[in-house]
Amino acid sequence: MSSDDVVIVGGGNLGLWTAYHLAQRGVRRILVCERYWAGYGATVRSAGIMRQQGGSETAVKLGKWSRELYRKLGQELGLDSGFREVGYYVVASSPMEKAVFQRLVELRTAHGVPNEWLDPEDLARRLPYVDWSRFAGATYTPNDGYVEPAIIVRNIVMAVRAAGVELLEQCEVQGIEPLTSGYRVETSRGVFETERVIDAGGPRGARRIAEFVGIDVPVAASRHMVISFPERPPDMPANFPMMFVLAAGFYLRPDEQGVLLGFSNPLEQPDPSDRYLLEFDWDYFEKLKPEWEATIPSLAGKAIGRAWTGSIDYTPDQLPIIDEPRFGFYVLAAGGHGIMWGPALGMKMAELVTEERLSDLDPEEVRLRRFTEGRMATDAIHLPFPH
Ligand SMILES: Cc1cc2nc3c(=O)[nH]c(=O)nc-3n(C[C@H](O)[C@H](O)[C@H](O)COP(=O)(O)OP(=O)(O)OC[C@H]3O[C@@H](n4cnc5c(N)ncnc54)[C@H](O)[C@@H]3O)c2cc1C
Repeated sequence: MSSDDVVIVGGGNLGLWTAYHLAQRGVRRILVCERYWAGYGATVRSAGIMRQQGGSETAVKLGKWSRELYRKLGQELGLDSGFREVGYYVVASSPMEKAVFQRLVELRTAHGVPNEWLDPEDLARRLPYVDWSRFAGATYTPNDGYVEPAIIVRNIVMAVRAAGVELLEQCEVQGIEPLTSGYRVETSRGVFETERVIDAGGPRGARRIAEFVGIDVPVAASRHMVISFPERPPDMPANFPMMFVLAAGFYLRPDEQGVLLGFSNPLEQPDPSDRYLLEFDWDYFEKLKPEWEATIPSLAGKAIGRAWTGSIDYTPDQLPIIDEPRFGFYVLAAGGHGIMWGPALGMKMAELVTEERLSDLDPEEVRLRRFTEGRMATDAIHLPFPH
């Protein structure tokens, strides 16, 4: 048996960034237990979209801080940060969405995120390969972009190891028992005593880990799908800006010389299988295809190079959980946005652990009790998750 100050369950983007920030704050004995290998869960399967164009104050701040943290870590390591700044258009399909989006431009700008509203005529000049007659306009942030999941995992693993964090892979947490002071954590690689436990188990772990100490964490997993066209159409420039058609629930970004396209079915139900690798829903693909082919006609008929699915984490309001529901037991979950918010969520969790407070965020918006007390906030910009 060995003892630690903090045991983090889950070596995904959230657990690893939490370990990094705790180490930066001087916490000395930090253990990350990962049942497979670092990044194995939702993190490496993600599309990497990094958006500061949130639909609430919390979302905007988390996106802005995370973008800065990815870039800073790349500089610290002297390596590629993995961040690709290509700009992002979030597209409104109706006058009602237009009104919401225009209000969000003010919110984002007030929080230091460059953001503008563009009408279809302006957009047609900028992105002539898109049929803008279908849309009411879009918001645009030039310094949004995407990250390469493989690079961000490499970087954060290197950083936590350099900071003295112990990362145990192939280490499954199988039980957590509260002690008079602290916790006893049973794993497939031994038993650890610790003052604090952080549940960062993601879509396939967060709920079960919290059950060990009798807490209900409403994090579920559902299918999210991504396809990649190896070649982009000739009318789309290299490093074309990303695009999210919110109402249809699909987004696009560059992928090597081609185009990556991600989408979710709004009627998708939580998946009970405990697998990350799920069947690809070709029926829904066929149903949605006319939407993206009408949006970018030159994509029609393009061959697909890769198609994959993954279990995406979601919370009932698509917002994160940063909380200490039991003394010394913490919960961190991303609400399906753990790439665009992960570094900042780790930063805030480390603040909560070391200072027992959350600054510069409304703590009530990220607490667990909002789900039982019916005080959920809303983020207007998110994928069509199941309800
Ligand atoms: C296909 C797809 C595309 C996505 N695209 C985007 C995107 O473009 N932008 C974005 O922001 N987000 C995206 N997401 C969501 C994003 O990937 C997740 O929100 C994020 O990775 C969550 O990070 P995490 O660390 O909470 O979870 P995970 O990455 O799943 O990490 C949790 C880890 O905990 C481990 N674990 C679980 N139980 C235990 C246990 N008992 N003992 C030890 N270890 C355990 C797991 O093995 C796992 O490695 C996407 C997700 C999918 C599936």
